[in-house]
Amino acid sequence: MTQNTRVAAVSAVDYSPELIGQKIDQALELLGGLGQFVQPGDRVLLKPNMLEGLLSECAVTTHPEVVRSMIRQVRQSGATPVVGDSPGVSGTLKTAEKCGIFAVCQQENAELVPFEHSVEYPYPDGRVLKKFYLTDVLGRVDKVISLAKMKTHSFMGMTGATKNLFGCIVGVQKAQFHLRTQQRRDFAGMLVDLALLVKPVLSIVDGVTGMEGNGPRNGRPIHSGVILAGANPFAVDIVMAEMMGFRLEELPVASLSLELGLTPAFDAIELVGEARHVRHQFISPRSMQSLEDRVPAWFAKGARSQLTARPLVQPNCNGCGRCVAHCPPQAMHLAAGVAQIDDARCIRCYCCQELCPANAIRLQRGWLLKLAQRFMK
Ligand code: SF4
Ligand code: SF4
Repeated sequence: MTQNTRVAAVSAVDYSPELIGQKIDQALELLGGLGQFVQPGDRVLLKPNMLEGLLSECAVTTHPEVVRSMIRQVRQSGATPVVGDSPGVSGTLKTAEKCGIFAVCQQENAELVPFEHSVEYPYPDGRVLKKFYLTDVLGRVDKVISLAKMKTHSFMGMTGATKNLFGCIVGVQKAQFHLRTQQRRDFAGMLVDLALLVKPVLSIVDGVTGMEGNGPRNGRPIHSGVILAGANPFAVDIVMAEMMGFRLEELPVASLSLELGLTPAFDAIELVGEARHVRHQFISPRSMQSLEDRVPAWFAKGARSQLTARPLVQPNCNGCGRCVAHCPPQAMHLAAGVAQIDDARCIRCYCCQELCPANAIRLQRGWLLKLAQRFMK
């Protein structure tokens, strides 16, 4: 991973195409130009966050204008852009159509590649897993650029440049990774390894409109007016956390990458650009500040219900069954047209809350977590 930890932060008030084009250009210039990362003849994968096919106003997916701007930038540098992701639900093309990325790819004549097939990537140095199964598209490109969204995340606290790469795992195989890394610290370790394996040459974060609260899908859009760019995804995430008003100890990916020396602390990052002083206080997800990371693993397993937030199905559940289909340990089922959770089998991954189209999963904190949060404020 690159030792270049400069991060550019530029302001953008809205998604008008000219403005986003200028601002992305400005951010790249602050990093020395795209030529630092991409060479003529390269085939470059642009990996946006395409969690679900929702309108860009919902702030669930990377805005199509950010994708458009990067397609143009890559092409101007003499390389070939391709755009791809594996959404949380539904296929790549359908999702891209709904969130506007399909139209942008068509208008810019850029290839949109669905992530459908996986290949094994051995990773003997892995902290948690020694091999990954990732999209075969990675084997057909020279460079990867992460186009993330500035959002909260029920399980990891926030999703940015590093977490965005989880979309390189194809479709329902994501559930297997949740099953194999059930504790927050293990899942975070897996994400850090994944970023080290995929090695994005550049990470851009679309924070013009971010998401606060119960992200990454069911939170609230928040105008944050910033675009971040940097060669080191961990450093970009440290800056993003600071701008969202979160403490690193609440964010297992950011705190682990700092602990491992993969990024300097915020104060030591070379932060450039007119938006470097931007600060917000994003509302955190209800699951934030899980105590699981702070106690021994054997205790965390036994006392999980009190150390974490518990998912509860609300009366507005419409029985669509999406959560049942995506629950990694199959701890959910439908009864009388309503989702039910077997709490004993629930691993607190919050995929159900993340993917529910009716926002019908509420997260209720255990009493120990509530008590601790009083003192953690
Ligand atoms: S909880 Fe949400 S995802 Fe699950 S069945 Fe109900 S509406 Fe569908
Ligand atoms: S019930 Fe929800 S939080 Fe629990 S394991 Fe299933 S998807 Fe994860």
